Amino acid sequence: MKRFVTAVTLVIVVLTMSTCSKKDIPFAHNKDAAAYNKPVGASAKDLLGSSAFASLSVEIQYVAGYAPDAAALEQLKTFLANRLHKPGGVTITTQVIPDPGAPTLSLSRVREIENAHRTLFNKGNRFSLYILYSNSDYSDANTLGIAYRNTSAALMGKKIHENSGGFGQISRTKLEATVLEHEVGHLLGLVDLGSPMQSAHKDAPHGNHCSNEQCLMYYASETTDVLGFLSRNEASELDAGCLADLKANGGR
Ligand SMILES: [Zn+2]
Ligand SMILES: [Zn+2]
Repeated sequence: MKRFVTAVTLVIVVLTMSTCSKKDIPFAHNKDAAAYNKPVGASAKDLLGSSAFASLSVEIQYVAGYAPDAAALEQLKTFLANRLHKPGGVTITTQVIPDPGAPTLSLSRVREIENAHRTLFNKGNRFSLYILYSNSDYSDANTLGIAYRNTSAALMGKKIHENSGGFGQISRTKLEATVLEHEVGHLLGLVDLGSPMQSAHKDAPHGNHCSNEQCLMYYASETTDVLGFLSRNEASELDAGCLADLKANGGR
């Protein structure tokens, strides 16, 4: 019998940078900290094109027991190679970090973890992304992943593990790659989030998502279960509308 899990959604958190409190300034040791504390999508052009940054490093940090799926990372690498102009290449590194010891993570806690542990920043013509694999649920327990700063995203490892890789479930690789690519899609400026829309395909009631339910950037609502979708379909990919937006903003 097909496992039916409702209400698991891919969400994006778009920050509005409205305060200047010390708490909101990450990476105090980094003189360019503000460069990594912009809204989601603000660095889409730098990510997609090569004029400012010719290469990309993706730093993935995880809690023990939640190491990234190797095949999912390969898929992410292919996804990036197919969408970005980075003649200097894309490098993915992984590193374990201490257990934050929190059963659920708030957005501010996710930001604090990154602030405390992120080690890679833009250097010369190399751009840098950060992805956290947590061992916790998000404060909205149905969340599989979030994009929360211009160069930062997080996967909710516990929720992903609970819903993939077991008997009758979709594969770990498939779910993890989908969430990874979806969140990176937001960092690339989708939908209408830094990569201007070339056609009307924004599902406005669901935020910065695509109106095409076959698209990677579709918002899987509480009644449209992403796990059900993935179990019926090969994998979701970007549709023509999203691809055109990336191309117009300097991508492939
Ligand atoms: Zn989303
Ligand atoms: Zn789309």
